[in-house]
Amino acid sequence: MDLQTKALHAGYEKDTQGTMAVPIYMTTAYEFRDVEHAANLFSLKELGNIYTRLNNPTTDVFEKRFAELEGGAAALATSSGMSAIFFAIANAAEAGDNIICAKQLYGGSLTQTAHTLKRFGIEARFFDVHKPQQIEALVDDKTKVIFFESLTNPSIDVADIEAITAIANKHNILTVVDNTVATPVLCRPFEFGVDITVHSASKYTTGQGLAIGGIMVERKGLVDKLKGNARYAHFNEPDASYHGLVYTDIPLPPYSLRGRLSLLRDLGAVSSPFNSWLFIQGMETFSLRMREHSKNALALAEYLEAHPKVKKVNYPGLKSNSNYENAQKYFQDGLCSGLLSFEVESLEEATKIVNATQLYSLVVNIGDSKSIITHPASTTHQQLSQEELIACGVPSGLIRISCGLESTKDLIADMEQALNA
Ligand code: PLP
Repeated sequence: MDLQTKALHAGYEKDTQGTMAVPIYMTTAYEFRDVEHAANLFSLKELGNIYTRLNNPTTDVFEKRFAELEGGAAALATSSGMSAIFFAIANAAEAGDNIICAKQLYGGSLTQTAHTLKRFGIEARFFDVHKPQQIEALVDDKTKVIFFESLTNPSIDVADIEAITAIANKHNILTVVDNTVATPVLCRPFEFGVDITVHSASKYTTGQGLAIGGIMVERKGLVDKLKGNARYAHFNEPDASYHGLVYTDIPLPPYSLRGRLSLLRDLGAVSSPFNSWLFIQGMETFSLRMREHSKNALALAEYLEAHPKVKKVNYPGLKSNSNYENAQKYFQDGLCSGLLSFEVESLEEATKIVNATQLYSLVVNIGDSKSIITHPASTTHQQLSQEELIACGVPSGLIRISCGLESTKDLIADMEQALNA
Protein backbone atom coordinates (compact mmCIF):
# COMPACT_ATOMS: atom_id res chain seq x y z
CA MET A 1 0.00 0.00 0.00
CA ASP A 2 1.17 3.53 -0.71
CA LEU A 3 1.86 5.92 2.15
CA GLN A 4 -1.09 8.10 1.13
CA THR A 5 -3.46 5.13 1.56
CA LYS A 6 -1.88 3.97 4.81
CA ALA A 7 -2.24 7.48 6.22
CA LEU A 8 -6.02 7.07 5.92
CA HIS A 9 -6.50 3.46 6.95
CA ALA A 10 -3.56 1.88 8.77
CA GLY A 11 -3.97 0.78 12.37
CA TYR A 12 -7.74 1.14 12.63
CA GLU A 13 -10.31 -1.63 12.60
CA LYS A 14 -13.82 -0.20 12.77
CA ASP A 15 -15.49 -0.82 16.13
CA THR A 16 -18.91 -2.45 16.55
CA GLN A 17 -20.62 0.84 15.61
CA GLY A 18 -18.78 0.94 12.29
CA THR A 19 -17.54 4.47 12.99
CA MET A 20 -15.65 5.90 10.03
CA ALA A 21 -13.74 8.37 12.18
CA VAL A 22 -11.46 6.86 14.81
CA PRO A 23 -13.30 7.26 18.16
CA ILE A 24 -11.71 9.25 20.99
CA TYR A 25 -11.48 6.94 23.96
CA MET A 26 -11.41 9.46 26.80
CA THR A 27 -10.92 7.10 29.70
CA THR A 28 -8.36 6.72 32.44
CA ALA A 29 -8.73 2.98 32.95
CA TYR A 30 -10.29 -0.22 31.59
CA GLU A 31 -12.34 -2.91 33.32
CA PHE A 32 -10.80 -6.39 33.48
CA ARG A 33 -13.06 -9.41 32.87
CA ASP A 34 -11.79 -11.12 36.01
CA VAL A 35 -8.66 -11.50 38.12
CA GLU A 36 -7.04 -13.94 35.70
CA HIS A 37 -7.57 -11.53 32.79
CA ALA A 38 -5.96 -8.71 34.78
CA ALA A 39 -3.01 -10.93 35.73
CA ASN A 40 -2.55 -12.02 32.11
CA LEU A 41 -2.44 -8.42 30.90
CA PHE A 42 0.14 -7.43 33.49
CA SER A 43 2.33 -10.44 32.68
CA LEU A 44 1.97 -9.84 28.89
CA LYS A 45 0.44 -13.32 28.38
CA GLU A 46 -2.39 -11.35 26.79
CA LEU A 47 -2.05 -7.89 25.23
CA GLY A 48 -4.71 -5.31 26.04
CA ASN A 49 -5.68 -2.12 27.80
CA ILE A 50 -4.69 -1.59 31.42
CA TYR A 51 -4.48 2.15 32.18
CA THR A 52 -4.18 5.14 29.84
CA ARG A 53 -0.69 6.02 31.11
CA LEU A 54 0.39 2.75 29.44
CA ASN A 55 -1.97 2.42 26.50
CA ASN A 56 -5.18 3.74 24.99
CA PRO A 57 -7.16 2.59 21.92
CA THR A 58 -7.09 6.02 20.21
CA THR A 59 -3.37 6.47 20.87
CA ASP A 60 -2.87 2.89 19.70
CA VAL A 61 -4.25 3.81 16.24
CA PHE A 62 -1.98 6.86 16.11
CA GLU A 63 1.04 4.73 17.03
CA LYS A 64 0.25 1.92 14.58
CA ARG A 65 -0.50 4.34 11.75
CA PHE A 66 2.63 6.41 12.30
CA ALA A 67 4.79 3.27 12.52
CA GLU A 68 3.33 2.12 9.19
CA LEU A 69 4.10 5.44 7.49
CA GLU A 70 7.66 5.42 8.77
CA GLY A 71 8.05 1.74 7.74
CA GLY A 72 8.81 0.77 11.34
CA ALA A 73 7.82 -2.13 13.60
CA ALA A 74 6.16 -0.20 16.45
CA ALA A 75 5.79 3.27 17.90
CA LEU A 76 5.37 4.94 21.26
CA ALA A 77 3.41 8.19 21.51
CA THR A 78 4.51 10.75 24.08
CA SER A 79 3.28 14.08 25.43
CA SER A 80 5.71 16.17 23.33
CA GLY A 81 8.58 15.95 20.87
CA MET A 82 10.99 16.69 23.72
CA SER A 83 9.75 13.71 25.74
CA ALA A 84 10.03 11.43 22.67
CA ILE A 85 13.69 12.49 22.36
CA PHE A 86 14.30 11.95 26.07
CA PHE A 87 12.71 8.48 25.94
CA ALA A 88 14.67 7.46 22.85
CA ILE A 89 17.94 8.38 24.59
CA ALA A 90 17.10 7.29 28.15
CA ASN A 91 15.98 3.89 26.83
CA ALA A 92 19.60 3.24 25.82
CA ALA A 93 21.80 5.35 28.10
CA GLU A 94 22.25 5.71 31.84
CA ALA A 95 24.55 7.62 34.21
CA GLY A 96 28.18 7.13 33.15
CA ASP A 97 27.28 6.67 29.46
CA ASN A 98 27.69 9.12 26.60
CA ILE A 99 25.79 10.02 23.45
CA ILE A 100 27.09 11.57 20.23
CA CYS A 101 24.92 14.36 18.82
CA ALA A 102 25.00 16.57 15.76
CA LYS A 103 25.74 20.21 16.59
CA GLN A 104 22.94 21.21 14.25
CA LEU A 105 19.95 20.37 16.45
CA TYR A 106 16.73 22.11 17.44
CA GLY A 107 17.49 24.43 20.41
CA GLY A 108 15.45 22.36 22.89
CA SER A 109 17.30 19.21 21.85
CA LEU A 110 20.61 21.01 22.34
CA THR A 111 19.72 22.09 25.86
CA GLN A 112 18.28 18.66 26.72
CA THR A 113 21.37 16.78 25.54
CA ALA A 114 24.07 19.26 26.64
CA HIS A 115 22.59 20.36 29.97
CA THR A 116 19.67 18.30 31.30
CA LEU A 117 21.04 14.87 30.39
CA LYS A 118 24.39 15.94 31.82
CA ARG A 119 22.70 16.34 35.20
CA PHE A 120 21.48 12.74 34.80
CA GLY A 121 25.12 11.68 34.28
CA ILE A 122 24.87 11.25 30.49
CA GLU A 123 27.52 13.17 28.56
CA ALA A 124 26.75 14.62 25.12
CA ARG A 125 29.61 14.82 22.60
CA PHE A 126 29.05 16.87 19.46
CA PHE A 127 29.96 16.46 15.79
CA ASP A 128 29.34 18.64 12.74
CA VAL A 129 26.55 17.07 10.68
CA HIS A 130 28.57 17.91 7.54
CA LYS A 131 31.55 15.93 8.91
CA PRO A 132 30.33 12.47 9.97
CA GLN A 133 33.97 11.31 10.11
CA GLN A 134 34.27 13.33 13.38
CA ILE A 135 32.12 10.66 15.05
CA GLU A 136 34.90 8.03 15.05
CA ALA A 137 37.07 9.97 17.51
CA LEU A 138 34.12 10.42 19.90
CA VAL A 139 33.08 6.76 20.17
CA ASP A 140 34.04 4.62 23.16
CA ASP A 141 32.54 1.57 24.84
CA LYS A 142 30.14 3.78 26.83
CA THR A 143 28.61 5.36 23.72
CA LYS A 144 24.94 4.40 23.54
CA VAL A 145 23.32 6.60 20.90
CA ILE A 146 24.20 8.71 17.87
CA PHE A 147 21.53 11.41 17.54
CA PHE A 148 20.91 13.79 14.64
CA GLU A 149 18.13 15.42 12.60
CA SER A 150 17.42 14.32 9.01
CA LEU A 151 16.50 17.90 8.03
CA THR A 152 17.85 20.24 10.68
CA ASN A 153 15.97 23.02 12.43
CA PRO A 154 16.85 25.90 12.32
CA SER A 155 20.04 25.54 10.24
CA ILE A 156 18.18 23.70 7.40
CA ASP A 157 20.91 21.17 6.60
CA VAL A 158 20.39 17.64 5.28
CA ALA A 159 22.32 14.89 7.06
CA ASP A 160 24.25 12.32 5.05
CA ILE A 161 22.26 9.57 6.80
CA GLU A 162 24.08 6.60 5.27
CA ALA A 163 27.51 7.98 6.15
CA ILE A 164 26.44 8.28 9.80
CA THR A 165 24.68 4.90 10.06
CA ALA A 166 27.72 3.18 8.49
CA ILE A 167 29.91 4.41 11.36
CA ALA A 168 27.25 3.57 13.96
CA ASN A 169 26.81 0.04 12.61
CA LYS A 170 30.56 -0.56 12.56
CA HIS A 171 30.50 0.01 16.34
CA ASN A 172 27.07 -1.59 16.91
CA ILE A 173 25.66 1.69 18.26
CA LEU A 174 22.02 2.74 17.97
CA THR A 175 21.15 5.70 15.74
CA VAL A 176 18.27 7.99 16.67
CA VAL A 177 17.03 10.43 14.03
CA ASP A 178 14.70 13.35 14.59
CA ASN A 179 12.59 13.22 11.42
CA THR A 180 10.19 16.03 12.43
CA VAL A 181 10.88 18.50 9.62
CA ALA A 182 11.24 15.97 6.81
CA THR A 183 8.31 13.79 8.06
CA PRO A 184 7.76 10.18 6.93
CA VAL A 185 6.15 11.57 3.79
CA LEU A 186 9.44 12.96 2.51
CA CYS A 187 12.11 10.88 4.24
CA ARG A 188 12.23 7.23 5.42
CA PRO A 189 15.32 7.02 7.65
CA PHE A 190 14.95 3.23 8.20
CA GLU A 191 15.66 2.67 4.51
CA PHE A 192 19.09 4.24 5.11
CA GLY A 193 20.04 2.17 8.15
CA VAL A 194 18.60 4.23 11.02
CA ASP A 195 17.37 2.30 14.09
CA ILE A 196 14.97 4.68 15.84
CA THR A 197 13.18 7.85 14.77
CA VAL A 198 11.57 10.55 16.88
CA HIS A 199 9.15 13.28 15.90
CA SER A 200 7.54 16.33 17.33
CA ALA A 201 3.93 15.60 16.31
CA SER A 202 3.23 19.23 17.23
CA LYS A 203 4.49 20.28 13.78
CA TYR A 204 3.55 18.71 10.43
CA THR A 205 1.72 15.71 11.95
CA THR A 206 -1.14 17.78 13.32
CA GLY A 207 -0.42 20.19 10.48
CA GLN A 208 -2.55 22.97 11.90
CA GLY A 209 -0.72 23.89 15.07
CA LEU A 210 -3.41 22.26 17.22
CA ALA A 211 -1.60 20.18 19.83
CA ILE A 212 1.72 19.26 21.43
CA GLY A 213 2.82 15.65 21.11
CA GLY A 214 5.64 13.36 20.13
CA ILE A 215 6.32 9.86 18.88
CA MET A 216 9.22 7.42 18.82
CA VAL A 217 9.37 4.67 16.17
CA GLU A 218 11.66 1.64 16.03
CA ARG A 219 12.71 -0.14 12.86
CA LYS A 220 11.82 -3.71 12.01
CA GLY A 221 14.34 -6.28 13.22
CA LEU A 222 15.98 -4.02 15.82
CA VAL A 223 16.12 -6.98 18.21
CA ASP A 224 19.01 -8.41 16.18
CA LYS A 225 21.15 -5.36 16.96
CA LEU A 226 20.27 -5.42 20.67
CA LYS A 227 20.45 -9.17 21.32
CA GLY A 228 23.76 -10.07 22.95
CA ASN A 229 25.08 -6.52 22.37
CA ALA A 230 27.25 -5.66 25.41
CA ARG A 231 26.41 -1.95 25.02
CA TYR A 232 22.78 -2.69 25.83
CA ALA A 233 22.98 -5.17 28.71
CA HIS A 234 19.66 -3.94 30.10
CA PHE A 235 17.90 -5.31 27.01
CA ASN A 236 19.50 -8.70 27.56
CA GLU A 237 19.21 -9.07 31.34
CA PRO A 238 16.08 -9.54 33.48
CA ASP A 239 14.32 -6.24 34.27
CA ALA A 240 13.91 -6.26 38.05
CA SER A 241 11.17 -3.61 37.74
CA TYR A 242 9.09 -5.88 35.47
CA HIS A 243 9.21 -9.31 37.12
CA GLY A 244 12.44 -10.32 35.39
CA LEU A 245 11.32 -9.65 31.80
CA VAL A 246 14.15 -9.93 29.24
CA TYR A 247 13.13 -7.56 26.43
CA THR A 248 15.09 -9.31 23.68
CA ASP A 249 13.64 -12.72 24.59
CA ILE A 250 10.03 -12.04 23.67
CA PRO A 251 8.54 -11.62 20.17
CA LEU A 252 7.58 -7.94 20.52
CA PRO A 253 9.51 -4.88 19.25
CA PRO A 254 11.85 -4.42 22.25
CA TYR A 255 12.67 -0.72 22.13
CA SER A 256 9.10 0.53 22.22
CA LEU A 257 8.10 -2.21 24.64
CA ARG A 258 10.74 -1.16 27.17
CA GLY A 259 9.89 2.49 26.49
CA ARG A 260 6.27 1.76 27.39
CA LEU A 261 6.66 -0.69 30.26
CA SER A 262 9.51 1.11 31.95
CA LEU A 263 9.80 4.78 30.90
CA LEU A 264 6.17 5.63 30.14
CA ARG A 265 5.06 3.73 33.23
CA ASP A 266 7.50 5.57 35.50
CA LEU A 267 7.78 9.01 33.89
CA GLY A 268 4.22 9.31 32.60
CA ALA A 269 4.76 11.68 29.65
CA VAL A 270 1.83 10.15 27.80
CA SER A 271 -0.15 11.49 24.82
CA SER A 272 -3.69 12.59 25.70
CA PRO A 273 -6.22 10.51 23.70
CA PHE A 274 -7.67 13.77 22.41
CA ASN A 275 -4.28 14.87 21.10
CA SER A 276 -3.71 11.43 19.55
CA TRP A 277 -7.01 11.89 17.76
CA LEU A 278 -5.93 15.32 16.46
CA PHE A 279 -2.73 13.74 15.10
CA ILE A 280 -4.79 11.05 13.36
CA GLN A 281 -6.91 13.79 11.71
CA GLY A 282 -3.76 15.58 10.59
CA MET A 283 -2.23 12.43 9.15
CA GLU A 284 -5.17 11.94 6.78
CA THR A 285 -3.83 14.83 4.70
CA PHE A 286 -0.13 14.38 5.55
CA SER A 287 0.95 13.42 2.08
CA LEU A 288 -1.00 16.15 0.27
CA ARG A 289 0.16 18.82 2.70
CA MET A 290 3.86 17.97 2.61
CA ARG A 291 3.88 18.23 -1.17
CA GLU A 292 2.18 21.65 -1.04
CA HIS A 293 4.44 22.93 1.77
CA SER A 294 7.46 21.87 -0.28
CA LYS A 295 6.12 23.42 -3.49
CA ASN A 296 5.44 26.76 -1.78
CA ALA A 297 8.82 26.78 -0.02
CA LEU A 298 10.72 26.11 -3.25
CA ALA A 299 8.85 28.87 -5.12
CA LEU A 300 9.45 31.36 -2.31
CA ALA A 301 13.13 30.34 -2.05
CA GLU A 302 13.57 30.89 -5.80
CA TYR A 303 11.88 34.27 -5.59
CA LEU A 304 14.04 35.34 -2.63
CA GLU A 305 17.24 34.13 -4.28
CA ALA A 306 16.62 36.53 -7.17
CA HIS A 307 15.85 39.52 -4.93
CA PRO A 308 18.60 42.19 -4.67
CA LYS A 309 18.00 42.79 -0.93
CA VAL A 310 18.58 39.13 -0.07
CA LYS A 311 22.17 38.09 0.67
CA LYS A 312 21.61 34.35 0.98
CA VAL A 313 18.77 31.81 0.93
CA ASN A 314 18.98 28.49 2.80
CA TYR A 315 16.75 25.86 1.21
CA PRO A 316 18.01 22.41 0.19
CA GLY A 317 15.69 22.35 -2.83
CA LEU A 318 17.73 25.11 -4.48
CA LYS A 319 20.41 23.83 -6.86
CA SER A 320 22.81 26.44 -5.40
CA ASN A 321 22.44 24.97 -1.88
CA SER A 322 25.25 22.80 -0.49
CA ASN A 323 22.68 20.27 0.81
CA TYR A 324 21.06 19.80 -2.63
CA GLU A 325 22.68 16.44 -3.37
CA ASN A 326 21.78 14.96 0.01
CA ALA A 327 18.22 16.21 -0.43
CA GLN A 328 17.96 14.54 -3.83
CA LYS A 329 19.28 11.30 -2.36
CA TYR A 330 17.28 11.12 0.87
CA PHE A 331 13.98 12.93 0.16
CA GLN A 332 11.07 11.60 -1.88
CA ASP A 333 11.08 13.28 -5.31
CA GLY A 334 13.67 15.72 -3.93
CA LEU A 335 10.91 17.55 -2.01
CA CYS A 336 12.36 19.47 0.94
CA SER A 337 9.48 20.39 3.29
CA GLY A 338 8.36 23.91 4.25
CA LEU A 339 11.28 25.36 6.18
CA LEU A 340 13.61 27.96 4.69
CA SER A 341 15.63 30.91 5.90
CA PHE A 342 17.17 33.94 4.25
CA GLU A 343 19.60 36.63 5.23
CA VAL A 344 19.36 40.36 4.71
CA GLU A 345 21.98 43.04 5.40
CA SER A 346 21.24 43.95 9.01
CA LEU A 347 19.16 43.50 12.14
CA GLU A 348 17.25 46.71 11.26
CA GLU A 349 16.46 45.46 7.75
CA ALA A 350 15.27 42.09 9.11
CA THR A 351 13.09 43.78 11.74
CA LYS A 352 11.50 45.99 9.09
CA ILE A 353 10.66 43.01 6.85
CA VAL A 354 9.27 40.85 9.67
CA ASN A 355 7.07 43.71 10.90
CA ALA A 356 5.83 44.52 7.40
CA THR A 357 4.58 41.05 6.46
CA GLN A 358 0.84 40.52 6.78
CA LEU A 359 0.25 36.89 5.76
CA TYR A 360 3.15 35.49 7.80
CA SER A 361 2.50 35.28 11.55
CA LEU A 362 5.34 36.15 13.91
CA VAL A 363 5.44 32.91 15.88
CA VAL A 364 8.09 30.50 17.20
CA ASN A 365 6.67 27.35 15.66
CA ILE A 366 6.95 25.46 12.38
CA GLY A 367 4.79 23.07 10.38
CA ASP A 368 1.49 24.94 10.61
CA SER A 369 -0.85 25.25 7.61
CA LYS A 370 -0.57 29.02 8.16
CA SER A 371 2.78 30.56 7.21
CA ILE A 372 5.07 31.59 10.04
CA ILE A 373 7.92 34.09 10.17
CA THR A 374 10.57 34.06 12.89
CA HIS A 375 13.51 36.31 13.64
CA PRO A 376 15.86 33.98 15.56
CA ALA A 377 18.29 36.70 16.75
CA SER A 378 15.54 38.50 18.68
CA THR A 379 13.66 35.40 19.90
CA THR A 380 14.95 31.81 20.02
CA HIS A 381 18.62 32.87 19.93
CA GLN A 382 18.29 36.17 21.85
CA GLN A 383 20.67 35.12 24.66
CA LEU A 384 23.61 34.60 22.28
CA SER A 385 26.35 37.17 21.60
CA GLN A 386 27.12 38.46 18.06
CA GLU A 387 30.04 35.98 17.81
CA GLU A 388 27.93 33.07 19.08
CA LEU A 389 25.16 33.95 16.61
CA ILE A 390 27.62 33.79 13.71
CA ALA A 391 29.16 30.53 15.02
CA CYS A 392 25.81 28.73 15.07
CA GLY A 393 24.80 30.06 11.66
CA VAL A 394 22.25 32.59 12.90
CA PRO A 395 23.40 36.08 11.83
CA SER A 396 21.25 38.95 13.12
CA GLY A 397 19.81 39.55 9.64
CA LEU A 398 18.50 35.97 9.34
CA ILE A 399 14.76 35.40 8.91
CA ARG A 400 13.20 31.93 9.11
CA ILE A 401 10.03 31.01 7.29
CA SER A 402 7.78 28.02 7.78
CA CYS A 403 5.86 28.03 4.51
CA GLY A 404 2.19 27.24 4.97
CA LEU A 405 -0.51 26.21 2.53
CA GLU A 406 -1.65 29.64 1.31
CA SER A 407 -1.45 30.21 -2.44
CA THR A 408 2.09 30.57 -3.75
CA LYS A 409 1.13 33.81 -5.49
CA ASP A 410 -0.14 35.40 -2.26
CA LEU A 411 2.91 34.30 -0.26
CA ILE A 412 5.29 35.83 -2.79
CA ALA A 413 3.21 39.01 -3.14
CA ASP A 414 3.21 39.59 0.63
CA MET A 415 6.96 38.95 0.85
CA GLU A 416 7.50 41.39 -2.03
CA GLN A 417 5.60 44.22 -0.34
CA ALA A 418 7.48 43.53 2.93
CA LEU A 419 10.88 43.59 1.20
CA ASN A 420 10.00 46.86 -0.49
CA ALA A 421 8.38 48.49 2.56
N1 PLP B 1 12.42 18.44 17.23
C1 PLP B 1 12.37 19.45 16.36
C2 PLP B 1 13.12 19.34 15.07
C3 PLP B 1 11.63 20.60 16.65
O1 PLP B 1 11.59 21.61 15.77
C4 PLP B 1 10.95 20.67 17.89
C5 PLP B 1 10.17 21.86 18.26
O2 PLP B 1 10.24 22.89 17.63
C6 PLP B 1 11.04 19.59 18.76
C7 PLP B 1 11.77 18.49 18.40
C8 PLP B 1 10.35 19.62 20.10
O3 PLP B 1 9.01 19.30 19.94
P1 PLP B 1 7.85 19.71 20.97
O4 PLP B 1 7.70 21.18 20.91
O5 PLP B 1 6.67 18.93 20.47
O6 PLP B 1 8.28 19.23 22.31
